[in-house]
Amino acid sequence: MNNEISVLLILTGGTISMGEDPATGALTPLGKEQMLSYLPELDQLPVKISTVSFDPMIDSSDVDPSFWVKVAETIRDHYDRFDGFVVLHGTDTMAYSASAVSFMLQNLSKPVVFTGSQLPLGMLRSDAKENVMNAIEIAAAQDDNGKPLIPEVTVFFESYLMRGNRTTKRSTDNFSAFKSYNYPNLAKSGVHIKYFPMLALPAHNAAPLSINTQSDNNVTVLTLFPGIREEVVAAQLSVKGLRGVVLKSFGAGNAPQAEWFYKQLKAATDRGIVIVNISQCLTGSVEMGRYETSLNLQKAGVLSGYDMTLETAVTKLMHLLGNYDDSNIVRQKMSESICGEVSIQKNVK
Ligand code: ASP
Repeated sequence: MNNEISVLLILTGGTISMGEDPATGALTPLGKEQMLSYLPELDQLPVKISTVSFDPMIDSSDVDPSFWVKVAETIRDHYDRFDGFVVLHGTDTMAYSASAVSFMLQNLSKPVVFTGSQLPLGMLRSDAKENVMNAIEIAAAQDDNGKPLIPEVTVFFESYLMRGNRTTKRSTDNFSAFKSYNYPNLAKSGVHIKYFPMLALPAHNAAPLSINTQSDNNVTVLTLFPGIREEVVAAQLSVKGLRGVVLKSFGAGNAPQAEWFYKQLKAATDRGIVIVNISQCLTGSVEMGRYETSLNLQKAGVLSGYDMTLETAVTKLMHLLGNYDDSNIVRQKMSESICGEVSIQKNVK
């Protein structure tokens, strides 16, 4: 790294931005100045760091699409002045935010690294410092020609750098809270940080960064379980204004073969509702048509979500529905990779 490299730290909230009140022992939000006072090491980094803070900083359970727009706009507004960006974010919905922002930032050619922590910055055993320092180093990492090593939206957590729209929060307790189940890690931090740039998306240098913040949250998630009742499915599919459904099916994309279930789904797709089938399993892909129990889904017009995470399927649907009124275009784009969020398996029946 050299002195010229600059990184913008965007403080949005979450556990990482909290400290223990010495008087009460309770966790309370720290202000920007107090947060930075816990990170004196920032001055020692050979990187120029600037910070911008959301006001108020929020618990990530309060995140909604307008928050994603704010993150995307903050990056756009500072884009030309920085080489990389680190977004400090609560862990609970970080995978949703990283996914949503990956769709909003178009022609990205610089690293945007999301990170947070399981323990507040102001606690002795906190994992915050390690995550922040690594994230900054990664956001500043360039090759010999001065090109960023990982110019995409990522999540760094406890030793691993992952493609943001492939991540899921998997533990409330472990420091290793995030995992990319269906795509390899983009870097691993040990004594040195080992990068795997061949796995990263190429930098989009041909056109300047633009943001596309259109979004429509008229979506729902329908999670199947044995014994699910027709009235429950019917109620969920008849929500006024509903345009998209993420169906969390069993195994490789299977669902009950009951006639009523098929009819409900078919009626919904006939009304133009886009239904995307993802698996309740964390690893692997939906393979529609592999079992008889997914044939009906195909016949009903349900789309394969392949190996997309829930977080990506939801935010991708919102993004596409926000951009296109025509459900056929949404269906077509849902089945393509926008920025590495899905592995399409064309040969699957
Ligand atoms: N509830 C917190 C949040 O997501 C949890 C955390 O940051 O770890 O904002």
